[in-house]
Amino acid sequence: MKLYSATASFKHKRKNSTFVPQYEERTVIVKAKSIALAEKLILKEFKCYSTDGTVFLDDFEIQEVDGCLKDGVLEVASFSRVSKLSKNKYLELYRTDLRPKDCKLRNWKHAWYQKDKETKACYNCEKTKKKP
Ligand SMILES: [Zn+2]
Repeated sequence: MKLYSATASFKHKRKNSTFVPQYEERTVIVKAKSIALAEKLILKEFKCYSTDGTVFLDDFEIQEVDGCLKDGVLEVASFSRVSKLSKNKYLELYRTDLRPKDCKLRNWKHAWYQKDKETKACYNCEKTKKKP
């Protein structure tokens, strides 16, 4: 048995008109005898995950998880993007702008959900609000 990881792209949509569609890169790990069996299990899981407005975009990449827990750490997925961007521009484009600080910056409306007992959070941005 070997370990395989797979990262796939999903799109989240809601009927709520204030919800801004979201793209998700999601990684799972599976134990299987071959990459073909791993793919079968992984696609089944992606199908199960695709409910309530979540759509699997038929884009995925499977990798054999190589190595062992070295110093307690195991790499399960990695992607390299070839780019001549500076490190700051790269981070700005691909990492720090995953979700805006506030919907107001994009002229969006907040799409609140109950995060925990006392806190509401917005699906679209980083804003939260506490129960008064
Ligand atoms: Zn918001």
